[in-house]
Amino acid sequence: MTPVYIALNAGSSSLKFQIFEESGDTEPRLIFKGLFEGLGNSPHFVARDSGGTILDEMSWGPEQFGHEEALVHLVSWLRKHQDGRQLKAIGHRVVHGGAAHSGPVLADEAVLAELETFVPLAPLHQPYNLEPIRISLRRLPGIPQVACFDTAFHRSQPEIAQMFALPREMRERGVQRYGFHGLSYEYIASVLGDYDPRLASGRVIVAHLGNGASLCALRSGASIATTMGFSALDGLPMGTRCGALDPAVVFYMLREMKLSPEEAERILYTKSGLLGVSGLSNDMRTLRSKAVVDADARRAIELFVYRITREIGSLIAALGGIDGLVFTAGIGENDAATRVEVMARLPWTGLALDERANLSGGPRISTGSGPTAWIIPTNEELMIVRQMRSVLSAAQTRLAS
Ligand code: AMP
Repeated sequence: MTPVYIALNAGSSSLKFQIFEESGDTEPRLIFKGLFEGLGNSPHFVARDSGGTILDEMSWGPEQFGHEEALVHLVSWLRKHQDGRQLKAIGHRVVHGGAAHSGPVLADEAVLAELETFVPLAPLHQPYNLEPIRISLRRLPGIPQVACFDTAFHRSQPEIAQMFALPREMRERGVQRYGFHGLSYEYIASVLGDYDPRLASGRVIVAHLGNGASLCALRSGASIATTMGFSALDGLPMGTRCGALDPAVVFYMLREMKLSPEEAERILYTKSGLLGVSGLSNDMRTLRSKAVVDADARRAIELFVYRITREIGSLIAALGGIDGLVFTAGIGENDAATRVEVMARLPWTGLALDERANLSGGPRISTGSGPTAWIIPTNEELMIVRQMRSVLSAAQTRLAS
């Protein structure tokens, strides 16, 4: 039987999945991918093959059909498409691993209880990430569950980069910079050497520009600084999130605007960023198509680019220079215009855009003998599967010794 792995990414009303099989190569091969949307309210399921062709689609009425039913449906769907394959393990994207976890862990009830303690640190994501682990431990005993953290990759940062200038008691309560998008950065760090060996050992800034957006400074492939902090709200403006904000704005919202903490949180997480500034959309494609005629769409993009380049400057200072800049995720990989605009603000770094390579998708999009710029597609799900395999093989080695 060929072992297969499910990589899960659960949100409040969605469950995204990718299914990989051992291929005999060093890397597992993607065989199926898809998602459940609208969980708890008219759910819809779609499964595709690795090329994106729809294999199956199903909708349910507004009945009791949540994450548990979705997971049960997915496992039975997989059984129907098993074809000599056997489910070996499930890997879960978990936003928060706290200060202690610098790598993935095999999840059991005790680990789950520990991860629950991080819910107050990421209340909008952590509960939904943990739900499928809880369900799987109960419904699929014997199938290992691996928690893969968005924060873990940043634990290599110097202590100073993880600190806020706050009273010590607050640090002791866990108020510190954690950083996120770690699965994406770890994947990019792992493939840098395939593009240019000098990147793998050099000073590289990775720009993960998607609906969520952040930057990470890598030295020899390890994170030394990142723009997201205590939460995934900090740093760059994003699709709907505000990015870095003077904390006094929050006091103003609560005290003067008389908003509740929940209302203020909703504005900062879901009504700000590209959407808030443009008043139009959180989607870069829409903003690009309107930018010629709509000044607000233009301003949203300008602010996005301005903040990216300012933060790049800050990370160059943390690194003491730059050898490479990598664009990744939805906007970073696909929006040539954002790459042009970011690079146009960075001539002082020695980065020089190769316009033709940029338009044709790279991978290298710089000219000259200075630092280099690249487009490298990220693959967070493959990173989850790699982490699952390493956790399982470490567990096997422990058992054998
Ligand atoms: P992600 O969260 O990584 O899926 O990225 C989502 C963002 O990528 C959205 O703002 C999309 O508009 C943007 N995006 C995806 N494809 C393109 C494209 N071809 N051109 C411009 N932006 C794109």
